[in-house]
Amino acid sequence: MIKKTICVDFDGVLNEYDGYEEGDLGEPLSGSHDFIRELRKKYKVVILTSRQKEQVIDWLNNNGFPSMKVTNRKVPAVAYIDDRAIRFNGSYTPALYEAVNLKPYWMKRHYRVYDVETGETKALFAKMYDAEIFTQNFKRNRVCIEILEGVLE
Ligand SMILES: [Mg+2]
Repeated sequence: MIKKTICVDFDGVLNEYDGYEEGDLGEPLSGSHDFIRELRKKYKVVILTSRQKEQVIDWLNNNGFPSMKVTNRKVPAVAYIDDRAIRFNGSYTPALYEAVNLKPYWMKRHYRVYDVETGETKALFAKMYDAEIFTQNFKRNRVCIEILEGVLE
């Protein structure tokens, strides 16, 4: 049986990544070898990257991955696995919301709870959940949560 193709992005999916840099491709992410091995049982895996393909081929070879096609052209595939992907499900509204609020998993952020009227910072949190719990200490609509770039120091 001919295996169907599945495309796997490189940066942030197979390697440690926190934003594009030209030279250093980082180390393989934990579990990435098993991930590729399992995918290859069912699919032909193609690595789809915007990087120079020779650079990625070298990285794959040097880090113990099997030989796979690497391309920077979108090829026909049953699915695309990408840390920056937004799934379009036929409705523009959720896709637009996700596009406007896009944050790849590796992009660090924190959360500021502030007074709506004065702008005064009430507290900073590393997790959205903790910020949401904290807002329950205030009367309704008195505070808002702002998402900020960077890790909480
Ligand atoms: Mg990526």
